[in-house]
Amino acid sequence: MTTPTTGATPYESYVYAYPHKTAYRPLPERPELRGLWAEQPKNALSLYLHVPFCEVRCGFCNLFTRIGAPEGLTTAYLDALERQATAVRGALGDEEPVRFAAAAFGGGTPTFLTASELERLCDIAEKAAGADLRAVPLSVEASPATATADRLAVLADRGTTRLSLGVQSFVPDEARSAVRPQKRAEVEAALSRIRDAALPVLNIDLIYGIDGQTEESWRYSLDAALAWRPEELYLYPLYVRPLTGLGRRPADASSAGWDEQRLRLYRAGRDHLLAAGYEQVSMRMFRRTGAPQEGADDYACQTDGMIGLGCGARSYTAELHYSFDYAVDMRQIRTIVDDYVSRPEEDFARAEHGRWIDAEEARRRHLLQSLLQAHGMPVSEYRERFGSGPWEDFPAELAAFAERGWLVDDAELLRLTPEGLAHSDAVGPALFSADVRATMAAYERK
Ligand code: SF4
Repeated sequence: MTTPTTGATPYESYVYAYPHKTAYRPLPERPELRGLWAEQPKNALSLYLHVPFCEVRCGFCNLFTRIGAPEGLTTAYLDALERQATAVRGALGDEEPVRFAAAAFGGGTPTFLTASELERLCDIAEKAAGADLRAVPLSVEASPATATADRLAVLADRGTTRLSLGVQSFVPDEARSAVRPQKRAEVEAALSRIRDAALPVLNIDLIYGIDGQTEESWRYSLDAALAWRPEELYLYPLYVRPLTGLGRRPADASSAGWDEQRLRLYRAGRDHLLAAGYEQVSMRMFRRTGAPQEGADDYACQTDGMIGLGCGARSYTAELHYSFDYAVDMRQIRTIVDDYVSRPEEDFARAEHGRWIDAEEARRRHLLQSLLQAHGMPVSEYRERFGSGPWEDFPAELAAFAERGWLVDDAELLRLTPEGLAHSDAVGPALFSADVRATMAAYERK
């Protein structure tokens, strides 16, 4: 097993899925989905539909999304999505019941689509993929400008239980600085429309570590969000990533200074939300005490069955994680989207880009994704699944966390301390395997 690399910076990388897509590679054998899914449990799958369009590119964003869509592209995209959904549903077979237990529309900005296009998106999820949207938690991402009353009405009618709104900051200068230009009044109007739509869960995304942001201005944004009593809040540290619009760090900040600013704002934000009656679910996620849980938690579920549809979506079986090619650069993204919409149905019946997950990687994934949750990882679950204990499998990594005071280990539960949770973005990467690390390092960014 590998030597952990904790400690360099608390903000090494955000691990929302392991392994990262930059560790995926072309699969020359192009395995058939039918074979890949034949032996997998299919009675509680997750469904994810990816809509790779946004009105503007936020400066911090490295998600797979293109800005705007020329005439006809969204229709062509939905056509391709339907072909893919049909092919994938066919590959899942009918020998045993196929059931989706959760669904999500992400992006990009799914509400970039018009109200009638959103109807069609829901139809694809239901009729082509086979999900019963009104019977399961359905989470949808939106931006203030696109959260219009007609779109929200469609989403509410089709069973949306959670709407996540990317606000980032209620301070206009900070929003501009993060290259997310939007007026405060537009954000407030969007929140009012969302509350009128009476969706069970509203999530608001905020960012800290923006150039010029102070504890005072941060608290101002938090309070502006809290005024809407959102059921969930996500607090994201700002990252500057290669090939994104935000080509620089906060003006006068050294790397250490910026780390210190982010840690300070994180602690202030966390304490403010805890005092306001929220519970911490992970480093980023906070849930209002007593609020319904209507979306996935802040991690991909430990059960491996995920069906991702769309050109930026991943799918997971227990043995293979796969998707299409990945890029951050705008021109490359356009090429990949254009390629996706030109595909015939039979193309979607095979995986072509991905990474095989062996027993060691499955252990790492389980540990990593459970440990980054505030409630920690029950050791018995790990032992039951893998037949060994986490300390046997990852002695060096766990010892390094314990030495830094980041780990509570009481034999039954492996859990991060508050300081460990604050350093989640160092803990996660320290659990990457040497091979995944090397493959990510060799990835040619595009
Ligand atoms: S942060 Fe969200 S809205 Fe902004 S460019 Fe990325 S996907 Fe689009």
